[in-house]
Amino acid sequence: MADTALMPIPGQVDPVTVPREVTPRADGRVDLIGLARGQIAELFAEAGLDAKAAKLRAKQVFHWLYHRGVTDFAAMTDIAKPMRPWFAERFVIGRPQVVEAQHSSDGTRKWLLRTADGHDFETVFIPDADRGTLCVSSQVGCTLNCRFCHTGTMRLVRNLTPGEIVGQVMLARDALGEWPKGRMDFAEEDDGPEFDEHPAGHYTADGRLLTNIVMMGMGEPLYNFDNVRDALKVVMDGDGLGLSRRRITLSTSGVVPMMARAGEEIGVNLAVSLHATNKAVRDEIVPLNRKYGLEELLEACAAYPGASNARRITFEYVMLDGVNDSDEDARELVRLIKRYKLPAKVNLIPFNPWPGAPYECSKPERIKRFAEIVFAAGISAPVRTPRGRDIDAACGQLKTAAAKKSRAELDRLAEEKQAALG
Ligand code: SAH
Ligand code: SF4
Repeated sequence: MADTALMPIPGQVDPVTVPREVTPRADGRVDLIGLARGQIAELFAEAGLDAKAAKLRAKQVFHWLYHRGVTDFAAMTDIAKPMRPWFAERFVIGRPQVVEAQHSSDGTRKWLLRTADGHDFETVFIPDADRGTLCVSSQVGCTLNCRFCHTGTMRLVRNLTPGEIVGQVMLARDALGEWPKGRMDFAEEDDGPEFDEHPAGHYTADGRLLTNIVMMGMGEPLYNFDNVRDALKVVMDGDGLGLSRRRITLSTSGVVPMMARAGEEIGVNLAVSLHATNKAVRDEIVPLNRKYGLEELLEACAAYPGASNARRITFEYVMLDGVNDSDEDARELVRLIKRYKLPAKVNLIPFNPWPGAPYECSKPERIKRFAEIVFAAGISAPVRTPRGRDIDAACGQLKTAAAKKSRAELDRLAEEKQAALG
């Protein structure tokens, strides 16, 4: 089953708590969502099918699960009717439980989801004129306490499993009504695909709303590498959710030792939460910088497999008033990008405030000026319009209401109180 342990990160010991294991389902059935074809075949073989049948059934079921989005074995028309209960007795096709679905006035949608063992996490869908982007979470909480990020005030509860990660995309497709529709090209009860490589038949799958995925929800995806990779493999599989890797972006706060592997084993677009151009400021706002510094990070970007002018690395830069938003910062940003010869674009993100946040957003004129300096150097530098602020769905606002104050937040509040007193 999915490994929910944090993977060891080379280098010093990481400041991570030990995540709790996922609790198995009470009814003993196994949820297939998140599993690869081979894993499904293994389970079918363990349950008694011979190797050849297990492989064939896994191929059929994989297609139904991920490409057609069915949640009931009874709907799998290329499996003989009497056989379908055999699957249903042993396996389930799960979805994350929806605790709350919110709709922003700007069209953004947010789902508060709950894992089978009772942990809350969030997914956000952001519709634009030319695309629809799903912002997917990789962990419940985050171990990295970036000071401007609300999620960073939660302690890490645990890594999300591949099923919980891919489940977010599936749930969004359910809600948007976007599973391929149309007629299947084989008869009900056709159990003949033993002789058929592609039991899918033909259908139309046009005009989708959900076109892109960004791993920019709660958590640091490169601290949950294996599960994120396995989930994205299913998302990218042509017979699975079928999204091209060019439409998927993984955002990291800079887990340098995992970046090359992300490029090689997942191959999606890379976004890096840079946010500062010198050690002092980055150490303060992205504490992971104390472990993997700017030079190392930018070298890892330069070496990222697949980065090119056609597939540029995105540098995210949150605009914090008086902290990282000067002309000098903008020029230094340009200098760094040029020095490391990075095919780059810069996303300027106006800081999204949250209650108790220690920063304010830069003034609009400041952001404009910053963008102009970067743009004048030939680097694309769009300013991101905050989306879904009214439902707390904007970047860095994700924090489930149920989450209790973390150790880090308590420490921070204590520090601030102390400072106010002193
Ligand atoms: N952990 C990953 C991905 C999730 S955060 C990472 O840090 O890259 C997605 C983006 O939102 C990051 O660039 C993050 O720095 C930014 N962000 C976090 N809090 C924010 C806030 N309050 N306002 C604006 N952007 C924020
Ligand atoms: Fe974690 Fe990313 Fe937030 Fe930093 S910005 S605390 S890495 S989710």
